[in-house]
Amino acid sequence: MPKVFNSQLGRHMEYPHEEHHPDRQFAFVFNLNRCIGCQTCTMACKSTWTFSKGQEYMWWNNVETKPYGGYPQHWDVKILDLLEKANPGGQIWKDGVFQGKTIFEAGPNDVSNGPKRVLGYLPTDEEWRFPNIYEDNAVGPKGHEAEYVKDGVKLPEHKTWFFYLARICNHCSYPACLAACPRNAIYKRPEDGIVLIDQERCRGYRKCVEACPYKKAMYRPTTRVSEKCIACYPRVEGSDPASNGNPMETRCMASCIGQIRLQGLAKINEDGSWAEDRQNPLYYMIKVAKVALPLYPQFGTEPNGYYIPPRWVNREFLKQMFGPGVEYAIDAYKVPDRELLAVLQLFRKGEQIIFKYEIKKGPKVFETEIHGKPFTLYNDTVIAYNKKGKEIFRTQVEEPFHVRPNIHQNSI
Ligand code: SF4
Ligand code: SF4
Ligand code: SF4
Repeated sequence: MPKVFNSQLGRHMEYPHEEHHPDRQFAFVFNLNRCIGCQTCTMACKSTWTFSKGQEYMWWNNVETKPYGGYPQHWDVKILDLLEKANPGGQIWKDGVFQGKTIFEAGPNDVSNGPKRVLGYLPTDEEWRFPNIYEDNAVGPKGHEAEYVKDGVKLPEHKTWFFYLARICNHCSYPACLAACPRNAIYKRPEDGIVLIDQERCRGYRKCVEACPYKKAMYRPTTRVSEKCIACYPRVEGSDPASNGNPMETRCMASCIGQIRLQGLAKINEDGSWAEDRQNPLYYMIKVAKVALPLYPQFGTEPNGYYIPPRWVNREFLKQMFGPGVEYAIDAYKVPDRELLAVLQLFRKGEQIIFKYEIKKGPKVFETEIHGKPFTLYNDTVIAYNKKGKEIFRTQVEEPFHVRPNIHQNSI
């Protein structure tokens, strides 16, 4: 198998195809500290793309309650278990480098299932039934069902915890769905890295469903072909009539009530690394502030969805889910520096994709201490620009305070 470089693993890995990288890459940051599990994103996607016959159980966007929930049920526990069985005790990180086996490396050795390109499994129909099973079920004391730890809510780690994990297809740099397709029906677009299934070429073998470790390729029984998130590509391209020719964020991003989502198009070098783009908010959060981390990087697909981990959750659980950068990312988020605080204001203030931001310094508002560290709040202004370099909006660190005039009292 050819060797490709996976920057999230810090090493080369085996992948069934040679390296080819797009000019730009669809990517996003979700701030899990803010998700309220309202499912507005889920419904925005469903009402746009998956409202037809045969798509009843298809949720390209879903929000599940961790640790117990999953769509399909137990998807991550199952693939982690398969990897552990393929490489017992070896799935570890050392000095930021993954020492274990990815789904591509473990696949061919999985002799119990016969040789195949990618390690995976096909969920049962029952497992696809609930988009948010075990909603709001928190972790309690070990061995005591339906009980909470009474003194369980104190930072840095709550003893009783859950959190919402919002998920879409990660439009991976090394997609497992694409690697597994015997018909070469799956492709990654050179202009934006969006991964699509060619509905004409697909014959419904479901190899993609089996191989995607995130279970974001889905089979439609009425048409007998597989489907997946299309990254709302008409919006991202700027060809949607609502976009006026400007690249626009996807439906699930734009509708997010909790303002947890920011999506962009990262500039990619020929070798697949992210080109330096210091004033791009995604580049800044992922590559400079290192506050956002990939979901299960150890799977090996180099997912392009990045998450700011929830700061109250058990660290070992988070490390398994987001890799070794968890402590650093939470520390950076808990006591944000001046630039990070300004960049965090960019989430969901507009619908166009932000290609660049600029910060205009404002006055000092107050000084304090957070988690034992000094913190100063400045009321800076942050300005967002679109692809053409035109200002989209500007906003401030301190939210403006509006007093509703008397005339509106009792007028609702
Ligand atoms: S998340 Fe799954 S379906 Fe999406 S590109 Fe990656 S492997 Fe393919
Ligand atoms: S990007 Fe578009 S197609 Fe994909 S999950 Fe979000 S709304 Fe659905
Ligand atoms: S709309 Fe936003 S806040 Fe609501 S569930 Fe989706 S990601 Fe979470």
